[in-house]
Amino acid sequence: MQLTDAYDQQNIFAKILRDEMPSIRVFEDETTVAFMDIMPQAPGHVLVIPRVAATNVLTLSADDARAVMTTTHLLAPAVQKAMEAPGLMLAQLNGSAAGQTVPHFHMHIIPRHKGLEMLGHGTEMADIDELAKIATRIRDAI
Ligand code: 5GP
Repeated sequence: MQLTDAYDQQNIFAKILRDEMPSIRVFEDETTVAFMDIMPQAPGHVLVIPRVAATNVLTLSADDARAVMTTTHLLAPAVQKAMEAPGLMLAQLNGSAAGQTVPHFHMHIIPRHKGLEMLGHGTEMADIDELAKIATRIRDAI
């Protein structure tokens, strides 16, 4: 995936936005959607995406960048509270050279606990019932 690639309408997050693929959503508004990462690097791993078709930061408008950060800023304390996390990592990858695997712009919110190593990127599928329970805790903490 090159930074200059055209937007792929069939990428998994585009399908989630069109409700062609399921997701466990924790928040949505006019411009953004946030849902549980299916292969969390730590319990409580949330993704925030813009509704617009943007592959990476180079093709995201400033307004949509602000919208994603506003939602991230709203959700960060909710994730922190729900997971009782002493640390939080925000991450955002652009292009496969940077490790991006899904070509729709997204922000990762990953709770961090000292001594609990993060899993590798996209390594292990989460238990869906467990993800749903965590999502309820996050929603309740917003
Ligand atoms: P990237 O590698 O592009 O920064 O992150 C993509 C993220 O999307 C990974 O953390 C991966 O676990 C997650 N992911 C991949 N496919 C799906 C999916 O079908 N549903 C959800 N909820 N997350 C996904």
